[in-house]
Amino acid sequence: MKALTSAEMKSFLKSLTGEYDVRAPVRLEDGTRALGHLDEGRLAIEGGPIARKPNDIFFPQFDVILNAKGNKFKVADSLQKPLFVIGFTAEDCECLEFVDKFYSENFRDEIYFAKRDKAVIAAVSGKCGKDGEMLKIAGGKCDLEFIYDGSKYIVCAYTLKGKKIEEKIKCEEKSAKIDELKKLSDSIHNEDLEILKKAGELIRKNAVPDDFWKEIANRCISCTACNIACPTCTCFDVCDHDRERVIERIRMWDSCQLDGFMREASGHNPLGEEYLRARRRIHHKLAADYERWGHITCFLCGRCDDVCPTNIGIKSVNREIVKRFG
Ligand code: SF4
Ligand code: SF4
Repeated sequence: MKALTSAEMKSFLKSLTGEYDVRAPVRLEDGTRALGHLDEGRLAIEGGPIARKPNDIFFPQFDVILNAKGNKFKVADSLQKPLFVIGFTAEDCECLEFVDKFYSENFRDEIYFAKRDKAVIAAVSGKCGKDGEMLKIAGGKCDLEFIYDGSKYIVCAYTLKGKKIEEKIKCEEKSAKIDELKKLSDSIHNEDLEILKKAGELIRKNAVPDDFWKEIANRCISCTACNIACPTCTCFDVCDHDRERVIERIRMWDSCQLDGFMREASGHNPLGEEYLRARRRIHHKLAADYERWGHITCFLCGRCDDVCPTNIGIKSVNREIVKRFG
């Protein structure tokens, strides 16, 4: 099998920059580990999920989608080179798969797919989480995967785009123990997943009373960090800015934790009370989406729990639901 050491990974990624706009986890000057260009910081592939959701590369917080001057319109420029993005975890890949589905059903979002269609997604898994912790193997849902065995990244390509990248790698590893790594990955016990499913069942059975959501709402400071961090939150707003007579149409993320999220022009607000918004954040992914898509749309990436200043990320809330009403 093809394999790369950490040092070889760096030069390999550099070799792709002629053909691709390469984004990889890098350590920025201020210490933040983020997806960036290779010259923005030291390569930091190891360390588990990056703090910011990686799929914001296709659906950024602010996106100029149209310029208008007089009666002339110009849609936003498309990318010069296809993106090669490395650093997705298995959970991030599941989130991306859902968002792809979301933006292609009923109405195909051409702005999203202008970036997404040609992009190559590379997952990183194996013994390269925080302190060498084993990260689940994605096993698909991405174009190719780099599975770390403790000394080398073993390359597994799943799609034609992924195979095209794999062909460029020259280094072979004859003794790659991929089956052992897969067994290790399969043996990862995910208690949070069991709790998520159970909490979903309880919510769908209406076993969680409004008083519970009122408690959660009392602890929420409406900072919106949970929505901003979540790779499966897809709500956005559109507004026009007048910049010296050029109108810029921008789409930007919205948050269901804000008072005005659903407020109508008449003033009526179906989510006008805090507890309804607190409920919606969880209910939407565990019940409403379950009904629409046939599955829960939280893939336990862990970001909302990491960022919530009052400890009411989805895993914490699910635990509380199961403990009290299960
Ligand atoms: S863990 Fe939180 S941030 Fe991650 S997918 Fe689920 S709801 Fe979104
Ligand atoms: S991160 Fe926590 S406190 Fe902030 S809006 Fe979300 S649930 Fe509320």
